[in-house]
Order: sequence, then structure tokens, then C-alpha cells
Amino acid sequence: MSLDRFNRNIHYLRISLTDMCNLRCVYCMPEDMTFRPREELLQDDELVRLVDVFARMGFDKFRLTGGEPTLRENLVGIVRRMHETPGVRELAMTTNGVTLNQLAQPLRDAGLDRINISIDTLNPKKFRHLTRWGRIEDVWAGVEAAEKAGLKIKLNAVVVRGQNDQEDAVDLARLTFDHPWQIRYIEVMPMGRISDFQKTAIVPEDELRATISDALGPMVLLNEGKLDGEARMFRLKDAQGSLGFISAVTKPFCAGCNRARLTADGRLLLCLLRDKEFNLMPHLRNGASDDELMAMIEESIWHKPWGHSLAQDIRPTRNMSEIGG
Ligand code: SAM
Ligand code: SF4
Repeated sequence: MSLDRFNRNIHYLRISLTDMCNLRCVYCMPEDMTFRPREELLQDDELVRLVDVFARMGFDKFRLTGGEPTLRENLVGIVRRMHETPGVRELAMTTNGVTLNQLAQPLRDAGLDRINISIDTLNPKKFRHLTRWGRIEDVWAGVEAAEKAGLKIKLNAVVVRGQNDQEDAVDLARLTFDHPWQIRYIEVMPMGRISDFQKTAIVPEDELRATISDALGPMVLLNEGKLDGEARMFRLKDAQGSLGFISAVTKPFCAGCNRARLTADGRLLLCLLRDKEFNLMPHLRNGASDDELMAMIEESIWHKPWGHSLAQDIRPTRNMSEIGG
């Protein structure tokens, strides 16, 4: 077990496989984003070795993200090796779904359990606008393929004021009447050099829930308000699926945080919204033993910050795509 100094058990690792992406969502990265050269990223063997090290330290839940994780070469092979690592109990991925139509079944066969697919609106024109050039048809084909493959599905929508906070949010919620999916509404988090735009785009959870309820009827709180990961859960009357609200800005959930993040270039980050990081790469490439790596990771985890300081306007300098969300 890996405890921090606030007695939180840190056992969930989110791994960014690449900082590259085939979309440019307006709330995630600037259009002229540049990416790191391949050799600066963790290689497959380095990645799998670190997964083994973390698993031996008590980490049991792993999520692959990015950038866009499906752009990583040999993704299916990486998933298979991670799935075969003793101690890995749950393996999930967050993806924009653009190429999932071809990948869902091979990923499931390799041992992927769950998938979160980002889909901010069902409206093709708005989808293109929010992602700068994405096609909703590709993502929807990916959702269907993931369902067919037997992956447990959640749909993520980042809610941007004036873009998808009205009928688009309602249309996504309506999907839960016919599908057992969780639709997760994510408040925009201000980070990197587009943080001024992001701040004006935030739609607080209470306002969004009122919009959805006005259109589709009341929603009941689930699990007595206990969070599912970072989401507060609700269900509309007669719905099969549920609605999750991830409100890092207006309702921070730092007290229950159980996660650490590994960036594609091998840095360990203990809070998504703070800059402090520990660079594992030089140690990995200079012959550190597993025990030495474990000691460094343990030390970093112990010093995990209590939480973010967005309320004091302290924002991280990296973009979301560089960290992995
Ligand atoms: N490319 C994949 C995707 O879009 O699902 C995985 C990486 S993306 C950075 C992970 C999640 O972060 C996505 O659900 C995305 O919508 C969300 N995200 C990106 N920028 C964000 C921001 N500024 N605030 C909140 N969530 C954001
Ligand atoms: Fe790419 Fe995901 Fe960021 Fe959109 S949210 S630009 S799909 S990394």
C-alpha cells in the first residue's frame, strides 16, 4: 500500500502514452500545439517495467490516456503486457474514439476492461467546431464497436459555456434512457497557455444539472453522494444509465484523491493541477534498480500535495493533453 502524508491510499495510476493527438479540442490544446519527439517518451519496455514496479507497490488500477492513446504504436501489445502483469486488477483507457471502430475488439481481447470515450455533443457541426476537425460519425462507430466488444463504457463530455451547455448536454443525458452508460459532464479546468479562455468557459455543476432537469425531469442522487472516482452520480427517472458530474473547480474532490499520473515522458505527477513532478526517466535510463525506483516513487507519493489551488488562481503550466486528464 502507498500512503501519502494525509493518509490517502494512492493506488490508481493514469499513464499518458503519448502527448500527440489527432484532434485539437479547443478546451485542451492550442491549434499550433507541438509534440515531443518519440525518443523522449517512455519506450514499451520502460513503461511495462514501471507498471510492474507500481503494481508491486499496491497500485491495482491503471488507465491509459494521452494525448490520444490510440495513436501509440503497438498499443494492443502494451495493453496485453499490462494485463498480464501481476497485481493489475483493472485496466481502462480514455480515448477520443476516432479509431476505436477498428481497435475496440483487439483491445478487449488483450485485456482492456473499461473505456471512457470523449463525446462533447451529438451535433456534427458543433462536434467539428469543438474538436477543430473531428467527425462525430467516427466516434459514434467507436462507441458501438466498444459496446459490441463488451467493454464497460462511460462517455465524457467537457462542458463549454455557450457551446454545448444547453440542448447538447440534454441530448447526451437522454442517451441514458436507452443505454446503461454513464455520461460524465466535466467542468473545464484552466491550465496551460489557454487558461484564460478555459476560465470563461466553465459551467458550474449546479447550473448544468438544472438545465438537464428542466428538460428531462428530476434526477436522484446515487450512492448517497459518494463519488464514483471523481464523479457525483445521479439518475433520471426510468433511465438505465447514470449521469456523473466531475466538478474539480466548483466542488473539488481532493480529500478522496487516490491517484498519481505518469506523463508520456516519464514524469510522475501527484496532482493534475499542480506543476510539481518527479522525473523518473534519467533514473530508468541510468540503471536504477526496481528497489531504488520504488523508494523514489514512495518518497514522491508521501509528498503528494493536499489539492489544487485553482481558487487562488494558481494554474498548471502544462496543457491537459501533456498530462492525460
Ligand atoms: N484524447 C483522449 C480523450 O480526449 O479522451 C484522452 C486524453 S484527454 C486529455 C482526457 C480527458 O480530458 C478527456 O475526457 C478530455 O475531454 C478531458 N479534457 C481535456 N481538456 C480538458 C480541460 N481543460 N478541462 C477538463 N477536461 C479536459
Ligand atoms: Fe486530443 Fe483528447 Fe485533448 Fe481532444 S481532449 S485534443 S482528443 S487529447
